[in-house]
Amino acid sequence: AVVVRQRMKSSRKWARAMAIVKELDDKCGTPLGKLRQVADAMTVEMHAGLASEGGSKLKMIISYVDNLPTGDEKGLFYALDLGGTNFRVLRVKLGGREKRVVKQEFEEVSTPPELMTGTSAQLFDYIAEALAKFVATESEDLHPEPNKQRELGFTFSFPVKQTSIASGTLIRWTKGFNIEDAVGKDVVQELTKAMHRKGLDMCVTALVNDTVGTLAGGRYYHPDVIASVILGTGTNAAYVERTSAIPKWHGPLPKSGEMVINMEWGNFRSSHLPLTEYDIALDEESLNPGEQIYEKMISGMYLGEIVRRVLCKMAEEASFFGDTVPPKLKTRFVLRTPDMSAMHHDTSPDLKVVATKLKDVLGITNTSLKMRKVIVEICDIVASRAACLAAAGILGILKKLGRDTLKQGEKQKSVIALDGGLYEHYAKFRDCLEFTLKELVGDEVAETIMMEHSMDGSGIGAALLAASHSPYLQEEDE
Ligand code: BGC
Ligand code: MG
Repeated sequence: AVVVRQRMKSSRKWARAMAIVKELDDKCGTPLGKLRQVADAMTVEMHAGLASEGGSKLKMIISYVDNLPTGDEKGLFYALDLGGTNFRVLRVKLGGREKRVVKQEFEEVSTPPELMTGTSAQLFDYIAEALAKFVATESEDLHPEPNKQRELGFTFSFPVKQTSIASGTLIRWTKGFNIEDAVGKDVVQELTKAMHRKGLDMCVTALVNDTVGTLAGGRYYHPDVIASVILGTGTNAAYVERTSAIPKWHGPLPKSGEMVINMEWGNFRSSHLPLTEYDIALDEESLNPGEQIYEKMISGMYLGEIVRRVLCKMAEEASFFGDTVPPKLKTRFVLRTPDMSAMHHDTSPDLKVVATKLKDVLGITNTSLKMRKVIVEICDIVASRAACLAAAGILGILKKLGRDTLKQGEKQKSVIALDGGLYEHYAKFRDCLEFTLKELVGDEVAETIMMEHSMDGSGIGAALLAASHSPYLQEEDE
């Protein structure tokens, strides 16, 4: 009788656990109809954000980039790429149309976590020092003409209100950064001051978002690039807009008639988004509650954390991992998206990778194969929803540009440059994104749309934009 009672109890628990997974699956559902609603809402918000300052949650930031690289850029340029857990410093020698990138060197430095929530001076001093060290390794033959100041393109991957091509104030932090005294300040000035403190003589000639850098880097090699999307720690998109379609732009009209817009789509929000209790709790407990809701459903910083929250509920309410909740499972952000991805891609018959990750990351041992299969399914639900929502966002951009349908007799190509760790390393995410976008636009249109991985585009792109906005260049022009 004891055995029977135990079996009944455990089957009740299993049923409860399965109910939790079923509910998750239902709430995360992204049928095409729903994705179309999300895409339409994105298009509507794009219009609103372009119409007036503060007209939408989508900031639709004017980048002051009205000319994208042509290939003719020449000279030695530096770039600094800051935006996630690592930052990079680059040196690029551009050789013009024929030779293109003659030489490229870079160094990657990890941002100490305590600097992500310290003071502005601490962060920028650290960066300026790394930059100074890197500049010191410049070889003789690369050296620009004496008396010529070195020029830097600064990729800063946070929402910045641009005031010119080389200045802009930080609107707010995202992605786990929280340095209060930097908000509202000109980040180029902050960097420049730090460079002076470190005795580094360099001039920032372009300040760009990583999406804008990626767009520029993509365009350098491919003239049909019209938009860029970052799917990494955070997510965002930029695209080329006609200036005539930007009512809030009162500046001089550029010759090109075009302007790159940094959408800051991470802050998109709509009643059509399939939000769950896990998303709501994650948002409430985050550093930026109420903000970046779309980003929190899609990007690499959050996907593993969503999965952890589901597993936590299963442990608490269905004793899924035994009578007590494994203590590590309660730690926020312990389950990182790369670990989630590793479990999701586990093809071993006994799901060995899942077992190892559960043990090493969450301290969970003794799982059955049946349980591990459930965990893979949860990863699949969370990653698929993210990929589908990102596809809907891209459809929103295509709609805004009228490229979601074919014009009579036209087969105009639309290339989208993508970058970011999530896109690059999470194969199932990438496949789902590409497949879903195809489904959304239909086979015929899908033939005109290309997704291209623009590797390290944001750094190179910043160097290219520094080149095309160089004050020396303007002097020569005059
Ligand atoms: C930031 C964007 C950035 C994106 C990708 C978001 O959190 O707000 O500015 O482009 O992350 O790095
Ligand atoms: Mg980056």
